[in-house]
Amino acid sequence: MTAAQFRAHGRAVVDWVADYWERVESLPVRSSVGPGEVRAQLPAEPPETGEPFEALLADMDRIVVPGSTHWQHPGFLAYYPSGASGPSALAELLISGLGVQGMLWQTAPACTELEQLVLDWLAGLIGLPERFTFAGGGGGVVQDGASTAMLIALLAALQRASRGQVARAGVERGRYVVYTSAEANCGFEKATRITGLGSSAIRFVDTRADLSMDPTALRTAMAHDAAAGRTPALVMATIGTTSTGAIDPVALIGPVCREFDAWLHVDAAYAGVAAMCPELRWVNDGVADFADSYATNPHKWLLTALEFDACYLADRSALTDVLSVLPEYLRNSATESGAVVDYRDWQLPVGRRFRALKLWAVIRWYGASGLREHIRYSVSAAQQFAAWVEADDRFDVLAPHPLSVICFRLRAADDVNRALLDAVNATGRVLLSHTMVRGQFALRVAIGGCATRLEHVATAWQLLSEWADIVAGPN
Ligand code: PLP
Repeated sequence: MTAAQFRAHGRAVVDWVADYWERVESLPVRSSVGPGEVRAQLPAEPPETGEPFEALLADMDRIVVPGSTHWQHPGFLAYYPSGASGPSALAELLISGLGVQGMLWQTAPACTELEQLVLDWLAGLIGLPERFTFAGGGGGVVQDGASTAMLIALLAALQRASRGQVARAGVERGRYVVYTSAEANCGFEKATRITGLGSSAIRFVDTRADLSMDPTALRTAMAHDAAAGRTPALVMATIGTTSTGAIDPVALIGPVCREFDAWLHVDAAYAGVAAMCPELRWVNDGVADFADSYATNPHKWLLTALEFDACYLADRSALTDVLSVLPEYLRNSATESGAVVDYRDWQLPVGRRFRALKLWAVIRWYGASGLREHIRYSVSAAQQFAAWVEADDRFDVLAPHPLSVICFRLRAADDVNRALLDAVNATGRVLLSHTMVRGQFALRVAIGGCATRLEHVATAWQLLSEWADIVAGPN
């Protein structure tokens, strides 16, 4: 593709995306294709000769759009939002066009230094302590997701707990145990499997009435393991659990970790960015004093497209000690000088994209005040939704909802609640998801998409309210 062709097709692509965003609200949120239907419309073999780019754009309209669930639809209230804002999408184009590979400072100085800067910016914006910044001896790295952050935190924790033995000799079978709450994200279990600990090394700590981790139960579990000769290596606390948005009491969990010399990783994938607002900064209480590592996903609630997890470590050497491998072909004078960060030592792959450019563009476009406004708007719309549910005696709200996630159900059997969810989703105007709360089926709304306004949240409530009587049947 020549530069002139790129210019022409590039303009068409930007128009296509802008048109898509303008019309997405008129599409059903959830795709109605069945398994295999997308593939069946596509040729089984790749083209032998090149095709005009227009043909690809035509297939976007004909096949990809109908075959997609529209996460950018303003009525998308399921799971967590995926923030493909304008500046983020434009930055993706710059990233691809620049096409640098940031494995070493030497291969991509701007990619490396911008990542350090932007993550230091974010740390400041959400009130993380100085020790998580480069100036403070720690530092941040962009990972693809919070699950990878859990994995690298676990590796670093095992390296520390084993006094450096893990990198050389692997994980000693049966020795290390790790803790999290029963409400934690499933990525943690994957991390234990990948490190070789296995899921049997996890102690799922009981939760309190508000579904947050019980620090007393944590202490009991750790004391029991320590007495049996096992080493408590890591505790993962969650700020904003996936199901209900519960916030573990890091300020109470931290001292327990200290007592047993265990690493404290804080998974704040969804809710960490709320701390940008002074009135919500409490979500990170305890992090400054106790966390060894911390991760939050701007790709959920901070208007930044997948994939973008901001992962921080207070002691970056615990991670680089376990992941640093320097073959001859990567040797260079900058690395040897010790004056630079080589991000290949902070992640699993060697190569890496210039992801930081995305958050840089988002922060520069919206400014800190614009981002705070987005968070506040979502929280206020969620509180309004919760107020509607609470005021209706056909429904119960099932968990505390200080931020933008609401779990609720009809006062009826699980099957009726499932039918309500299916009926509302089948309208195509909104999409909600579900979870289990204390063993009961719950409908779940998460607010925070780029285009979601109060009117879309009101539509969701109106549909729920109308369908509630229909699915519940006559009294
Ligand atoms: N942690 C929490 C609290 C989450 O809510 C999620 C996803 O929703 C994850 C971790 C997994 O994040 P990722 O998909 O970035 O690995």
